[in-house]
Amino acid sequence: MKIGFHISISQGFDAALEKAQKLQCEAIQIFVKNPRSWAQRTLTDNDLAAFSRLSAVLPVYAHLSYLPNLAKIDGDERNLKGLLHEASLCARFGIKYLVAHPGSNPDKLRGAGVTAQAVNAVHENYDVSILVENTAGQGSALGTNIDEMARIYEGVKDRGKALFCIDTAHLFQSGHQITGGHGWNNFVREFDRVLGVEKIGFFHLNDSKSPLGARADRHWHIGEGEIGLKFFKQLLKDKRFAHLAGVMETPKMGNMDEVNMKVMRSLFPALVPRSPS
Ligand SMILES: [Zn+2]
Ligand SMILES: [Zn+2]
Repeated sequence: MKIGFHISISQGFDAALEKAQKLQCEAIQIFVKNPRSWAQRTLTDNDLAAFSRLSAVLPVYAHLSYLPNLAKIDGDERNLKGLLHEASLCARFGIKYLVAHPGSNPDKLRGAGVTAQAVNAVHENYDVSILVENTAGQGSALGTNIDEMARIYEGVKDRGKALFCIDTAHLFQSGHQITGGHGWNNFVREFDRVLGVEKIGFFHLNDSKSPLGARADRHWHIGEGEIGLKFFKQLLKDKRFAHLAGVMETPKMGNMDEVNMKVMRSLFPALVPRSPS
């Protein structure tokens, strides 16, 4: 598996590239705009040129900003508008994959259909694939287990295009016992039976500060949380996912990015650092 981090673009794409190379990332995830604002972003030629320099070196995945709720695109028009705006930015950059949380809706059954419509709207308008991310199960969030993911997938028209992003912390927080014994293999086998293992397209590699089934989304440093090193070693060595990429979304504290990368590489020496180009 190619591993990397979620990297801030607040200082621009050239700074993001420098940071990613310093951390020996083999893939990165970014927000394509300010994730805390509904304001649309206007791209300049300079933005596009700087992004090209970044994407020439590293595979870049995008994560949808925090505001659009895909399970409520019928309730507030800003949700669909915001989603499509970010998909359009991805398309202009040439980013193929946009990770999105499936949103929340008190009526989960109906919400799954609404989220599928949101995914369809992106796929119909842009050459961008949505990676639907599993969630920790807080409140009325969709996507907390395989059945809920399958319910969304049922409404997706372009079956080849939609994929899933598995966040290891969310998986654990939503009650999946993936540590120890056969936990991880049981999850993958069940995912394969219901959706097909090839539908897993990306990973968020996070340890969890909250306990199993806590339904509280708190990411933590690799090996220092409730999931532990043994699980990450098993996942990094899992041949079924060797062709994929995964990024850490661990808290940005001091030099912890450097530490987390070092820990990951110690688990799986075959993760040879790429030489800076
Ligand atoms: Zn995540
Ligand atoms: Zn999270």
